[in-house]
Amino acid sequence: MAQSLLDLREVRKSFRTADGAPRRVLDGVNFVLKEGEIVALLGKSGSGKSTLLRIMAGLTPADGGSVSYRGRPVDSPVDGISMVFQSFALFPWLTVQQNVELGLEAQGVPAAEREKRADAMLDLMGLSGFGGALPRELSGGMRQRVGIARALVTQPDVLLMDEAFSALDVLTGETLRTDILELWESRSMPTRGILVVSHNIEEAVMMADRIVILSSDPGRVRSECVIDLPRPRDADSAQVRAFIDEVY
Ligand code: ADP
Ligand code: MG
Repeated sequence: MAQSLLDLREVRKSFRTADGAPRRVLDGVNFVLKEGEIVALLGKSGSGKSTLLRIMAGLTPADGGSVSYRGRPVDSPVDGISMVFQSFALFPWLTVQQNVELGLEAQGVPAAEREKRADAMLDLMGLSGFGGALPRELSGGMRQRVGIARALVTQPDVLLMDEAFSALDVLTGETLRTDILELWESRSMPTRGILVVSHNIEEAVMMADRIVILSSDPGRVRSECVIDLPRPRDADSAQVRAFIDEVY
C-alpha cells in the first residue's frame, strides 16, 4: 500500500460575502494524495480549488476538519510542501536567482550552498544564464519556470500547482507541462506527489493518475476517475479522448 502524503478529512471553510454573511466554500472535503501519484483537482471557477490548495500548503487555516502531511497536522507552511501559483508570484525587485534562493533562505541554508542549489535548479528548468535577470525581462513561460524552480529548490516531497499553466499560451503551457512530467518520470525531482489544480480537462487527463472533481454546492469532492495510461500520453489518442469524455 502506498503511504499517504496528504490526508484531508471533512475540511470546511467559509468566507464572508460583501454583505457580511458567511458563505461555506468547502463543506466537508475528504481527499488523500498518496505517495507516487499525480492527482488533478478539477472544478468550476469559484468552487474552492485555490482555497483547498492554500489550506493544504498551510497558507490558509481551515475552519474545521483535519489536514495532515505524512501524519503530522498542517496548520502553517511546512517544509516538504511547495506551491506554484497561477500568477507566478515572483518578487519583481529580486533577480531570478534571488527569487529561487528565497525558499532556501527561510530554511537557513548558507549562502554558498543556496547559490549552488539555485544554479542547479535553474539549469534543470532550462534557465541557465538567466539568474541575474529580473522577472519582467522574461516571457510568461520563463517566469513560470522560475516559479517552479523556486518551488523545487527546497526538494519538496509534495508539489501543489494552482493553475500553473493557465496564464500561459497553449504551446508554452504544454511545453512546460511536458517538461514537468519528464522530470517526474525520470525521477529528476525528489517530489513524491503532485497535485495539479486545473479547469482544463485535457490537461488533467494528460498529467494525472487520478482526477478528483470538486463540486461547488455543497463544496465537496464529487467524483473520481482513475487514468490508468502510461505517460507520456498522446493528446490525440483514442484512449485519452475517451477519458476526456468520461470526465465530462
Ligand atoms: P477557485 O480556485 O476554484 O476558482 P477559490 O478557492 O479561489 O475558487 O474561491 C472560492 C470562493 O471563495 C469564491 O467565491 C471566492 O470569491 C471566495 N474566496 C476565496 N478567497 C477568499 C477570501 N480571502 N475572502 C473572501 N472570499 C474568498
Ligand atoms: Mg483558483
